[in-house]
Amino acid sequence: YHTKDSIVYLNGKFVKASEATCSLYSQTVHYGMGVFEGIRSYHTQHGTRLFKAREHYERLLHSAQLMQIPHSLHIEELIQATYLLLEKNNLEDAYIRPLIYMDENMSLQVKKDSTSNLFIAAWQWDKYLGDKRIHVYISSFMRPSPKAFPVEAKTCGNYVNSILASTEARNAGYDEAILLDQNGFVAEGAASNLFIEKNGKLYTPPRGNILPGVTRGAVMEMAKEKEIEVIEKLFTTDELYAADAAFLTGTAVEIAPIKSVNKIQYKKEYHHTITYELERDFKHFVRNYHDPAYTII
Ligand code: PMP
Repeated sequence: YHTKDSIVYLNGKFVKASEATCSLYSQTVHYGMGVFEGIRSYHTQHGTRLFKAREHYERLLHSAQLMQIPHSLHIEELIQATYLLLEKNNLEDAYIRPLIYMDENMSLQVKKDSTSNLFIAAWQWDKYLGDKRIHVYISSFMRPSPKAFPVEAKTCGNYVNSILASTEARNAGYDEAILLDQNGFVAEGAASNLFIEKNGKLYTPPRGNILPGVTRGAVMEMAKEKEIEVIEKLFTTDELYAADAAFLTGTAVEIAPIKSVNKIQYKKEYHHTITYELERDFKHFVRNYHDPAYTII
């Protein structure tokens, strides 16, 4: 993730990654009380551009608000700092990790004088699950109930659930985990959203038990342009197995087509699916994306 020359952004300053430090008494280290984002930048014909920078930073600040994490950050500062960070690290196709983490506090409360920090790192990171059709596993771990956490906040602590599910899937010989919600409906991947394709239509779980992904939104936008209907509805694992095709979406995984679920393979010829078209179009979409937030720099 970093070399001896890597630069990170920490509380308004660009510093060497090797010199950036954090207290071991941070509330985030002990309890997972922090929020983060994952953003990608792509080399486009206009230069290096963040993909949906504003959407990601809006979600970061929304996560902080849902978790009552105090901060004085503004979207413009965040976007500008990120573009400068890419420049300072000579990065074009990169993964960017903004993190808001808490200062020292061993209590289980956000105090009136609680303060937070902003850290942004960037590095080159290939498509997280590789550029192939993946094998997924229905996890024995369920997504945490929205009654336990605000699920629409991208909170550090929530990711222990993802780590358990993803590790279980890996150890069982699969590429990634699919998690069900507390009622047994299909929710999402460990760090991705899920779509299924059936008879020319797309289905994806509605908001409520998922992180509303920026890539999920981009896929819905692309589908609309292609006049492909996208239906947000709950569905069962039976419907997942019976689909013509399925895929995961996320900043790290981009579009990851699914080859099999619990070893059961999709039968439809992949090149005849909408999933195939969307996977192909997405690559084009991100490389031609004209980040509207860039104009403010
Ligand atoms: N769900 C979860 C749990 C995630 O961690 C992610 C990755 N941020 C997603 C969905 C996909 O979101 P996005 O497309 O914004 O990366």
